[in-house]
Amino acid sequence: MYDPNNIFAKIIRKEIPSQLIYEDDYLLAFHDMHPVAPVHVLVIPKGPYKDYSNFVTTASSEMQSHFFKQVNVIARDLCDANFRLCTNNGPMSGQTIFHFHMHIIGGKQLGGL
Ligand code: 5GP
Repeated sequence: MYDPNNIFAKIIRKEIPSQLIYEDDYLLAFHDMHPVAPVHVLVIPKGPYKDYSNFVTTASSEMQSHFFKQVNVIARDLCDANFRLCTNNGPMSGQTIFHFHMHIIGGKQLGGL
């Protein structure tokens, strides 16, 4: 069940502020409020998708294609060819906000997972 009052839904509706990097009709990208590296950006689709699995099974092909391509554009703009992408899917993975988001992490030598 998607909760339309989660923090990222509020960021999309501009009910709470974010340090926005990029926005278009499909998605927005903004700085994570607790960065783990010099670059730590969150990319979120504009739609009621609670996690990655829900996104890839219910979002349109157009949405999915644009989302993943634009994640790459933003990551390369910020980190050239060196970045980590990750998404947590479900509470046991560490997901804390139940609106699908991709973390783009980089800007330094990263350790192993
Ligand atoms: P998750 O743990 O769900 O994979 O990632 C949630 C991320 O959202 C965390 O890295 C956390 O720091 C970030 N976060 C939580 N609340 C806010 C907020 O209000 N604004 C921003 N910019 N980031 C947030």
